[in-house]
Amino acid sequence: MLAERRGLLIILSSPSGAGKSTLARRLMEWDPSLSFSISATTRTPRPGETDGKEYHFLGVDAFKKMVANGEMLEHAHVFGNFYGSPVGPVREAIEAGRDVLFDVDWQGAQQIRTSELGGHTLSIFILPPSITELRRRLISRGQDAPEVISKRMQKSWDEISHWDSYDYVLINEDLEATFERLVSIVKAERMRRPQQPRLRDHVRALQSEFEEEGEA
Ligand code: ADP
Ligand code: 5GP
Repeated sequence: MLAERRGLLIILSSPSGAGKSTLARRLMEWDPSLSFSISATTRTPRPGETDGKEYHFLGVDAFKKMVANGEMLEHAHVFGNFYGSPVGPVREAIEAGRDVLFDVDWQGAQQIRTSELGGHTLSIFILPPSITELRRRLISRGQDAPEVISKRMQKSWDEISHWDSYDYVLINEDLEATFERLVSIVKAERMRRPQQPRLRDHVRALQSEFEEEGEA
């Protein structure tokens, strides 16, 4: 039995600090049926992060083994650590008609778009209103040491320079307004023709009905 609709792979990217985790969290609250792709990473957990919740925290060898076994939909080296999206849970969710939300960088977005599941991606890039505000948000988040913040700011331009590979780009000035625009995009994209596997059968039924009427 085909699911009512096919799940979307929703990719959110942004320079660190622009607000994508906040928006991802809000989106999960808005629709709890969304499944978040929990990435694997070799970075150390931040205070408050739990293994299996925000990330699967792995050693470098375990990470490399998953890549070698073809268990990652995509993977990349970011800020000196490895990050990757395990493919198993993604396949399961989208076949069951559930969307999967990804918080990945531009390299991950590019690999997901060109993967076997690429036809079902929706990619959204979040821009900050200004670089000053980006720095302010990174500092106010209070989770990173000054040298880490400076590294993240240096990487920001590299990330921003890929803005035009995304389907949608949102400037996250006012959080509520950005969230509303994000929800509108997701609602519309869920109705895209490739996301509706039952349409073909419906049109066939219409055709039979049409032909029967013609014969009567
Ligand atoms: P990212 O996941 O992109 O690194 P976060 O979602 O962690 O960024 O946001 C960084 C900081 O900025 C957090 O403290 C968050 O609460 C704050 N923030 C997010 N969006 C806005 C916004 N529109 N206005 C002001 N602060 C914001
Ligand atoms: P953080 O360490 O702040 O959680 O994430 C750092 C960066 O890594 C962010 O830009 C985030 O989007 C990216 N990232 C997180 N998980 C993945 C992943 O699975 N794959 C890729 N390519 N990037 C990821």
